[in-house]
Amino acid sequence: MKHWTLAEITEVYNTPLLELVFKAASVHRQHHNPKEVQISTLLSIKTGGCPEDCAYCPQAARYFTDVEKNDMLSAEQVETAAKRAKSLGSSRLCMGAAWRNVKDDEDFEHVIELVKTVNKLDMEVCATLGMLSEHQAKRLADAGLYAYNHNLDTSEDYYKEIISTRGYEDRLKTLDNVRKAKMTVCSGGIIGMGEAVADRLKMLLTLASLNPQPESVPINALVAVEGTPLENQQPISIWEMIRMVATTRIVMPNSVVRLSAGRTSMTIEGQALCFLAGAGSIFAGDKLLTTPNPDVFQDLEMFNLLGLTPTEPFAKHEQPSIKEEAVEVANQTEKWTRPGHQIEANVTYTKVGQEKRRKIKADESAN
Ligand code: SF4
Repeated sequence: MKHWTLAEITEVYNTPLLELVFKAASVHRQHHNPKEVQISTLLSIKTGGCPEDCAYCPQAARYFTDVEKNDMLSAEQVETAAKRAKSLGSSRLCMGAAWRNVKDDEDFEHVIELVKTVNKLDMEVCATLGMLSEHQAKRLADAGLYAYNHNLDTSEDYYKEIISTRGYEDRLKTLDNVRKAKMTVCSGGIIGMGEAVADRLKMLLTLASLNPQPESVPINALVAVEGTPLENQQPISIWEMIRMVATTRIVMPNSVVRLSAGRTSMTIEGQALCFLAGAGSIFAGDKLLTTPNPDVFQDLEMFNLLGLTPTEPFAKHEQPSIKEEAVEVANQTEKWTRPGHQIEANVTYTKVGQEKRRKIKADESAN
């Protein structure tokens, strides 16, 4: 594995654009089948009401957005959604719950059942549930979880401008716990949150320095949602996305680079350049957890137009077996941090949220 420096990654990123795309496409062809792109489906199994303060997220309970809080989906609902996704070409289902961290409670036991249900459909099962202890990671692995998603989001420095309720080291600790449980790691970030290009590249450096590198690296463009502290962020240009995808491809040649949130504002031409530059997966479905996403039939038309084929499941790694007799691992509780520093925009939007909810309550009791 090559040990990258920030200077080297910056040099890659600043390569003249067409030259960069050509280099990334060449790396992509050495390590992946360029005619295949994986279709993954992201399913929110528990929406909204999250105690965290991520500035980009409409599921944070403290902000006032149009996301409605929902209870956990049942096994039947998840199975139906997974079967539909599979019939439309998805080989991976990623289940997301708006939690700070996993707790050893009945909701987690339910997630274990959901993982088994989807594994039995011969799909790659991924979950994104927040911070995870070693013991919890092992339980998920024994249930047949293929991948765990935990994004670094941005650089360690800029993370402090976006989230105050947990620290960067918690992210890295969770990724380490996923590795110890021998699951594949899915970790990437979001661009367009007001960060500098250097922050994006520092994030790539952190990811590329993990040994082994993550098997999956989602690159999201911020979808600015009304009511969140980042609601007024201007969208990034497609060229920034292409550069980011290409750079990710070059510095992590074996990883599947996932073209994730933000595709609704990309043209087919823009997405085609991202595929050429090494994006090997898209997320399908009209919603990405809670934000809009292109219709799956439009995506299938795009695949037809570009001559792409959806990747079969377990193309790179074996399907994990479900261990009914799970091996016991000492239940150690992790001490997650709570930095609690003040992020002005997050504080302002929390107050706006409180005020709007207070007014709604007052109006309701007046009627
Ligand atoms: S990104 Fe995740 S942890 Fe952050 S507020 Fe949203 S659901 Fe919660």
